[in-house]
Amino acid sequence: MDSPIVIAGGGAAGRAAAQTLLAAGAQPLLHLAGPDGEVLDRTLVDKAIMTGRITPERAQSMRPPLDGLETRTDSLVTVDPPSPAEAAPGAADPLRLTLGSGEEIDAAALLVATGSSPRTVDVPGHAPWARAGRLTTLHSVADAMTVRTLLADRTGARVLVSGAGLVGSEAATLLSEAGHTVTLVAPSTPPGEAALGRTLASRLAQIHAEAVDTRFGARLVRLEELPGSAPGVAVLSDGSRIEADLVIIAHGARPHVPQGVGGEAGIPVDDRLRVRGRPDILAAGAVALFTAGDRRTAHDTDGRTAYRIDHWDDAEAQGVHAARTLLHDRGLREDPGAYRPLAPWSARIHGRQLAGFGHRLPGAQERIVSEDPLLVEFVDEAGDACAVLGLDAGRMLRDHGRSLRG
Ligand SMILES: Cc1cc2nc3c(=O)[nH]c(=O)nc-3n(C[C@H](O)[C@H](O)[C@H](O)COP(=O)(O)OP(=O)(O)OC[C@H]3O[C@@H](n4cnc5c(N)ncnc54)[C@H](O)[C@@H]3O)c2cc1C
Repeated sequence: MDSPIVIAGGGAAGRAAAQTLLAAGAQPLLHLAGPDGEVLDRTLVDKAIMTGRITPERAQSMRPPLDGLETRTDSLVTVDPPSPAEAAPGAADPLRLTLGSGEEIDAAALLVATGSSPRTVDVPGHAPWARAGRLTTLHSVADAMTVRTLLADRTGARVLVSGAGLVGSEAATLLSEAGHTVTLVAPSTPPGEAALGRTLASRLAQIHAEAVDTRFGARLVRLEELPGSAPGVAVLSDGSRIEADLVIIAHGARPHVPQGVGGEAGIPVDDRLRVRGRPDILAAGAVALFTAGDRRTAHDTDGRTAYRIDHWDDAEAQGVHAARTLLHDRGLREDPGAYRPLAPWSARIHGRQLAGFGHRLPGAQERIVSEDPLLVEFVDEAGDACAVLGLDAGRMLRDHGRSLRG
């Protein structure tokens, strides 16, 4: 039997890639769904599973295995051998993959969509909190269930959320709406400026401050005193001591990079989502590392201008695009062109709708399109708009988002 095309990752990007390859009749296909087979829409982790709106089983059943390909609960650990830098796209030599189960398989092609895992903290005193289920990240079903188990049938619990990115902001919103007392901590002031720009980030900081206790410009430095079920104390860098029943760490995520492709920062890809220096492999979703200057100069992967995108719709769009590149490289369809991150995303924060299209590239400058509703466009160094974000901007944002697509 021919070696399969292997898709590693059962999340947004991996599943979209598998569906695209299936629809094009590419065979045989092997889908590695990950080490724990947790195939779910990750956006449900906080909004639906943590809040008890749906069970983990229901979430999993919403993404059943795809017909027409083999799906395994297994992970990609190592890719071997390294391809020569000059390897042609779609090179014919099979790749040897080592899986988490220990099995070794040959692959005709590989698409890596292994996502990311949350950053954790190891501040002094963290271990007893974690053991008691009172310190958690918010990324997986298990994390959501830790929060749910502790807070079910309770109101008025004291929850400290560390990190005010989208996941931290949503958690602060959902838990304060559920009647808990939330303290939101973030080291930067205003939090989220790099992604949202100063104007929008400042407006958001104000919205948080009106809804929860905010401690911006401070970081969690120690966890202490955990007497049974009574609240413990979280100590911040400004010396303040916050009583907390639960601490949620929302410090962003690190890419899951299998050995043999990429590095700690992610898997560097070119504008077609081929792995740089290994054009016979593709990467998509939260694991893929882009380079800001790609549309003009490319090749700067020193970390200053490199960026990853971690939004659901964008990960799906990348999965589709990478699969199309793979089909092109095998002579099965036309070149899909350069990938442009233009997918929509949104988050509901204290009753307000924060939403956007595209991604703010490193170095892009903000331009206020409208003060009320607030609509901000980001313009890259070449003068092209790369993202537009709005707060309760509804139709104005949608119209502007369409114009971004050209
Ligand atoms: C709590 C939370 C809420 C979010 N809410 C939103 C939202 O409202 N809107 C939005 O746009 N985005 C949201 N996001 C972000 C969004 O979920 C991610 O951007 C998206 O899931 C990334 O897709 P992905 O396919 O790259 O990774 P994932 O969807 O995380 O999938 C990665 C897959 O790879 C598997 N895997 C891991 N390692 C291996 C390996 N070695 N081999 C094989 N498989 C492996 C995993 O098991 C998983 O199946 C949220 C994220 C979190 C954590």
